[in-house]
Amino acid sequence: MIAKLEPRLNPPADPADELAIVTDPASLIEHLGTGCVSDPTKIRVSKRFPLRVSRSFLNRIAPGHLHDPLLLQVLPQAAELEPGAPGLLDPLGETNRRTSPRLIRKYRGRALLLASAECSIHCRYCFRQYFPIRTAISEDPDCEQAIADLSADRTIREVILSGGDPLTLSDRRLAILSRRLASLPHLETLRIHSREPVVRPARIRESLIRALGEFPRRRVLVIHANHPNELVPTVGRSLERFRRDGFHLLNQSVLLKGINDHSDVLEALSEALFSYGVLPYYLHLLDPVQGSAHFAVPDRLAVNLVAELRARLPGYLVPQLVREIPGASSKTPVTSAAE
Ligand SMILES: *Cc1c(COP(=O)(O)O)cnc(C)c1O
Ligand code: SF4
Repeated sequence: MIAKLEPRLNPPADPADELAIVTDPASLIEHLGTGCVSDPTKIRVSKRFPLRVSRSFLNRIAPGHLHDPLLLQVLPQAAELEPGAPGLLDPLGETNRRTSPRLIRKYRGRALLLASAECSIHCRYCFRQYFPIRTAISEDPDCEQAIADLSADRTIREVILSGGDPLTLSDRRLAILSRRLASLPHLETLRIHSREPVVRPARIRESLIRALGEFPRRRVLVIHANHPNELVPTVGRSLERFRRDGFHLLNQSVLLKGINDHSDVLEALSEALFSYGVLPYYLHLLDPVQGSAHFAVPDRLAVNLVAELRARLPGYLVPQLVREIPGASSKTPVTSAAE
């Protein structure tokens, strides 16, 4: 099957709608038509990780198209909840790599702060979907312990805001957090891992950029897009705001079966990212989180796909294919398929 690369946009939504989030299957079906699911009554609404998608992202899905690569990222599948589904609840062994409830320390010089429990989209393959993030945040609601840890360890040069999605926090909270991080002189770089500029670009207002300006040193934004259809012009404008303010822009993707496991799609993704000033950073192999096996792409295919990209694109548009191995001192590059 040839991958579909042309986004088929619905008519432009009302601007207020651009910030809306859809959580009930009935609205999803109303928006996309019943053809988008073989049996709408079978959409499973799990309490733990319910359906959640920004209306802006929904507007990029082709109505009635069962295999739309954006729909597949957000539509809950029965396979997720099958009893005894293979996989792990904490596939990266993160819960026990914390120095305090909200701070994960795995790699030299870098620390990851769980900044928010919320996301504007629930990606069905998310490796952190079982992580007890709400409990973690309730144990250190004002980041006192996290800041104390960051302050005490002068080997940390970069702090990564993650979650959940850090850019779902209010501008006021982001300003306070950025200012507190800026007060620690050994932190040279603030890095933000967020899907918000892609899935809810209307959230990226000048006031948000000003709030992050409270951290006046080096800033990096790592977005998360998996398919070129995600990169509509409003996304480009949201990224332009970060770029004008001096952020370095990178993208990470997850290699997902039926979504981006084709060299034409990955090539178009790299080109679209670059047209918005973003360089591809990582292409992650799927983490074996429980209930996500239907998204897995075999190592051999992954390695071949990246070899094809390398033959087609300048080196700076080829992401590093990596997998995360719990306990390793970095993400692990994958250069050949395990036998
Ligand atoms: C991925 C990750 C990082 C960042 O790793 P880079 O290779 O620098 O992008 C840092 N801390 C944790 C806990 C991570 O999972
Ligand atoms: S936006 Fe990120 S953290 Fe949130 S569900 Fe998707 S992959 Fe997980």
